[in-house]
Amino acid sequence: MTIDLRSDTVTAPSPAMRAAMAAAPVGDDVYGEDPTVNKLERRVADLLGHEAAVFTPTGSMANQLGIRLLVRPGQEMLCDSDAHVVRAELGAAAAVSGVTTRTWSAPRGRLDALKVARMMRPDAGQYMVSTAAVAVEDTHNFGGGTVQPYAQLELLRDLTREAGVALHLDGARLWNAHVASGTPLADYGRLFDTVSVCLSKGLGAPVGSVLVGSVAGIAEARVWRKRLGGGMRQVGILAAAGLYALDHHVARLVDDHARARRIAGVVAAAFPAAVDPAAVQTNIVVIESLDAAQVVARCREDGVLLGLLDPTHARLVTHLDVGDDEVDQASKVLVGALRS
Ligand SMILES: *Cc1c(COP(=O)(O)O)cnc(C)c1O
Repeated sequence: MTIDLRSDTVTAPSPAMRAAMAAAPVGDDVYGEDPTVNKLERRVADLLGHEAAVFTPTGSMANQLGIRLLVRPGQEMLCDSDAHVVRAELGAAAAVSGVTTRTWSAPRGRLDALKVARMMRPDAGQYMVSTAAVAVEDTHNFGGGTVQPYAQLELLRDLTREAGVALHLDGARLWNAHVASGTPLADYGRLFDTVSVCLSKGLGAPVGSVLVGSVAGIAEARVWRKRLGGGMRQVGILAAAGLYALDHHVARLVDDHARARRIAGVVAAAFPAAVDPAAVQTNIVVIESLDAAQVVARCREDGVLLGLLDPTHARLVTHLDVGDDEVDQASKVLVGALRS
């Protein structure tokens, strides 16, 4: 059987999750009448300590609604050069919202708040682009599942507040950061004007993300969601999967993290240059190789699917649908692929 470690998006809903979906009471969510969606939105807003929330079909839409609320056309958003919002959302901030982006480089995606603050130019006047917002990613996906140090997030909040610059969190994997660091979700939430979280990554729901923010902000986000074609009807059937995931799939993320460390440990024992186990903080392992495409191809021949980040880096992600046996098998295959 194939062991799919390309991403934590590949999970299929479990029988119990499907049962919860089938049993969900539903209504027309465009009229605000879907009780299950309303319950999910309230729950996620409360978890993150925000006033309101809106359910979206994807994390990209949740991020882009957040950016749209915080940055006006012609203004800029700052983010790191490997951020999902700038690399993996197909230029949406520019194409949809007229937002320009300026980036900082961040080894492993790690935030350096002072470096970011030095780039900010709020109220830049008539000749330069004004900075309206900064976007941070936690955990950092292409950085290899990096958990942002909480003190850096706090410092960035202080510096942006002083400057009148807004702060968005791409928290697609904030659940992983929360479980790995022990930092309460509300402590993350209170530092940001808007936060997006994904239900379909490590949490294992088939679809869905949530954006949280102020009552006024989320009301505006609902208008833009509909305008972009994201107004959904009896969507409680999907929100129910999210509620089920919040009940059953958050605490277990520690297992995914332990399994990622286990793979990194086995690989590093054979090839110390390929991975630093100490850098594996959550469920993502980045493997370095002179020919990463070949490593990916060899693993595929032996039934293990990895992702290719760039010519010298492959990525594997542990998730709900891989257990200890699959992880041991994948480690063996990976060591073999690096050896040949
Ligand atoms: C997956 C992901 C998203 C959202 O992706 P969608 O495929 O649009 O749901 C956003 N940010 C990060 C960091 C992600 O990993």
